[in-house]
Amino acid sequence: MDDNSYKPSDFIREIIKEDLKTNRYGGHVHTRFPPEPNGYLHIGHAKSICLNFGIAEEFKGLCNLRFDDTNPTKEEAEYVESIKEDVKWLGFDWDGREFYASDYFEQMYQYAIQLIKDGKAYVCDLSSDELREYRGTLTIPGKESPYRNRSVEENLYLFERMRTGEFEDGSRTLRAKIDMSSGNINMRDPVIYRILDTEHHRTGNKWCIYPMYDFAHCISDSIEKITHSICTLEFEDHRPLYDWFLDQLNLYHPRQIEFARLNISHTVLSKRKLVELVEKGYVRGWDDPRMPTIAGMRRRGYTPESIRNFSQRIGVAKRESIVDVALLEHCLREDLNKRAPRVMAVLRPLRVVIENYPEDLVEEIEAINNPEDPSMGTRRIPFSKYIYIEKEDFMEHPPEKFFRLAPGREVRLRYAYFIKCIGVVKDEKTGEVLELHCTYDPATKGGNAPDGRKVKATLHWVSAPHSIEVEVHLYEHLFTVPNPGDYEDFMAYINPQSLQVLNSCKVEPNLLNAKSGEIFQFERLGYFCVDPDSRNGKLVFNRTATLKDEWTNIMKRQKKDK
Ligand code: ATP
Ligand code: MG
Repeated sequence: MDDNSYKPSDFIREIIKEDLKTNRYGGHVHTRFPPEPNGYLHIGHAKSICLNFGIAEEFKGLCNLRFDDTNPTKEEAEYVESIKEDVKWLGFDWDGREFYASDYFEQMYQYAIQLIKDGKAYVCDLSSDELREYRGTLTIPGKESPYRNRSVEENLYLFERMRTGEFEDGSRTLRAKIDMSSGNINMRDPVIYRILDTEHHRTGNKWCIYPMYDFAHCISDSIEKITHSICTLEFEDHRPLYDWFLDQLNLYHPRQIEFARLNISHTVLSKRKLVELVEKGYVRGWDDPRMPTIAGMRRRGYTPESIRNFSQRIGVAKRESIVDVALLEHCLREDLNKRAPRVMAVLRPLRVVIENYPEDLVEEIEAINNPEDPSMGTRRIPFSKYIYIEKEDFMEHPPEKFFRLAPGREVRLRYAYFIKCIGVVKDEKTGEVLELHCTYDPATKGGNAPDGRKVKATLHWVSAPHSIEVEVHLYEHLFTVPNPGDYEDFMAYINPQSLQVLNSCKVEPNLLNAKSGEIFQFERLGYFCVDPDSRNGKLVFNRTATLKDEWTNIMKRQKKDK
């Protein structure tokens, strides 16, 4: 799906095609991705990034990266840097068109003065509580502010004094003079400037008044000559206000198109909630591999290709819905299946002694790196008298459907030999199985018996003296319910088992020089990615995904139901 011949089609692209046909914007397509630098980007933002940058690419247009940095109390340079890194990592390039709403503060201030001069804006002394009360509700019309009819001169004088810092934070605002009885609450004389004596991460202490998002956003789009201003549905009700500002100021109008934001099951995508998870320490940081942030997904082992592919698969719509996280994981597996080299690793090791194997013999066994892609070649892995297998691959008293190793039973060791269990060493007190004694059949080298006898299971293994000890982090969904975002006390649904740390896992020696970010398929166990925290001492792996593709089952069930 990632190849260039595939052209997505949806209502946004149809609108753009139509505009190109009618030459509405002189044949140009210019979009932007406009994050507020108040948190790390998440998978929902990835959808918006893929859409804005993707459309620009498809229509040979441009896409700007613009930071809507109008709220200095919540914004930080750290977030700006992380956002840039994430957009680049996803594979998009803004070609130096990195803009900030704060670059336009002076221009916006001039526009505000123009509105005042035209009798379209006034300084209001109502407190924030009073503002709320006067605004009314969906059923109760708003009330006009007693300051609404100040003269132009007085408004200019007061606004200037707001700028020079003469008034307390929150004591006055500049409001647009529109219509307090409008059915659209956004049109009830919205605040366009507030007093906020706070240092800004880019403009420092130059300003103590800041434009509101709605004022800044549409003006920034206009200044940048954006043709198609693509945003999420909640801005539909803001569109009349944007049109009003641009009409009053006689400015260029982009065309705004709204689409439904992405929701994903078993996670939250609200920045406020993600900040809470980080600040209260429920996760280890913004890039915790359980987080739906791009930084977290990168650390978990997601590839940019899988995220772009997912964005394309879900498409865009006008109606909100929840996408099953299984689809995201499915896109990931599809990509990793092709690219991740396979290796052998044992998460919960059980020692096996092969009694009839020579004490000091070490054989180099040839193994295939990826059966899906022969060009990835083969490698050699050592085999010796002492190996580890997975604890759960052995049962002393196996139930009927257990086909793996058991006393007296023969199984295949992947790429190596058939082995047969002839003895079990147990802890006398606890009964725990500590070690197995087996024999091997030298005639089965490579994993097949010349006499044609079959075994019912193939186990992964590593040679004990050659293996490397590593730490593995297993992850489950961060929340136990599919829709945690629906609950105000969403924290109550955090999955206590979302992280499990295994300390003494064993991997084949070929992984000795694995680098941070490298992804492997541990045979039969899933995909695992080297964590950046792996220091010289011990490698740490994050389990990216298991091999079980829940999405395929969901699809099968849906077909059956039809
Ligand atoms: P905030 O509540 O802080 O405004 P936000 O999630 O809207 O959070 P922004 O930084 O304003 O974050 O978002 C940047 C862009 O990403 C916006 O155009 C927004 O519409 C889009 N976006 C945000 N969340 C999603 C989502 N879940 N799905 C699709 N697009 C999204
Ligand atoms: Mg927003």
